[in-house]
Amino acid sequence: MSTSVTVIGLGPMGRAMAGAYLDAGYRVTVFNRTASRADELVARGALRATTVEEALAANETVVLSLTDYAAMYALLEPAAPALRGRVLVNLSSDTPERVREGAAWAAKHGARHLTGGVQTPPSGIGSPEGDTFYSGPREVFEACEDDLKVLTGTDYRGEDPGLAALYYQLQMDLFWTALTAWLHTLALADANGISPSQFAPYAARTLGGMDQFLDFYTPRIEAGRHTGDVERISMAVASMDHVVHTTRDSGVDPALPAAVLEAFRRGAAAGYAEDSLTRLFEVFGRGAA
Ligand code: NDP
Repeated sequence: MSTSVTVIGLGPMGRAMAGAYLDAGYRVTVFNRTASRADELVARGALRATTVEEALAANETVVLSLTDYAAMYALLEPAAPALRGRVLVNLSSDTPERVREGAAWAAKHGARHLTGGVQTPPSGIGSPEGDTFYSGPREVFEACEDDLKVLTGTDYRGEDPGLAALYYQLQMDLFWTALTAWLHTLALADANGISPSQFAPYAARTLGGMDQFLDFYTPRIEAGRHTGDVERISMAVASMDHVVHTTRDSGVDPALPAAVLEAFRRGAAAGYAEDSLTRLFEVFGRGAA
């Protein structure tokens, strides 16, 4: 455990991270493109690096919290010689492919790269209940693990640097889609005089009960068993069609449920009308090929 760390990138996330290290008694060096974002941290005891080189030279462990990997290149490429011997804990989001390229770029400059996918907002930083996916060389992860645990709980996914980003993107796919569906139901409720708080317990019941569906369907999906003994795609098409019509009749934008209806119809058109909705797992997968 180093008890000394550099944090580069002081958006809401980086500021929360640098703050968590200060709270844990670390010696924290900070750098940000817009220098004023460091002021509050410096007032709390952080050391301000005036250049990226200075920030990299200060500590072996360098936490990056940038918008994306393009921001990393913009910031670090001009200071590349200073990367040698550093451990870059890169908590900036991007696609698995760009992350793999970034890890190779860091290695080319003599730095070791650990990818992180943070699954908590800034308010969750500094708590073990928050969670972060990590991937990259296991020995690097293990050597830094105590430092990483200052930020959130850790979940090491494997050696491939892209893995943490992949798990993160899977979670984002689920999260944004589910959250948008909820917002759509609120708009539909509102158009019919039902307030968000009136609908809240029902939304919570449906979303909160999803784990039962996951438990029931996951083994069937893994076994390739999509029998329509519980529900069928033909029923889902009829049901979603009612949702689209209710939405239209209410003067609410139907694009989102219409896209879901379209996916159900594709399943039926592929010959799976009598199968369970879980058949879409295969239909989606083939669609990408
Ligand atoms: P922001 O985009 O608000 O800030 C990130 C930092 O990137 C800032 O310090 C900004 O500098 C810097 N930056 C952006 N572009 C450049 C550039 N071209 N050159 C130099 N510096 C640049 O992000 P957050 O702090 O909100 O989040 C950081 C990462 O964490 C992101 O990848 C995000 O996806 C991820 N994340 C965020 C969550 C959240 O709730 N905020 C939750 C989970 C993950 P400057 O201040 O000068 O603009």
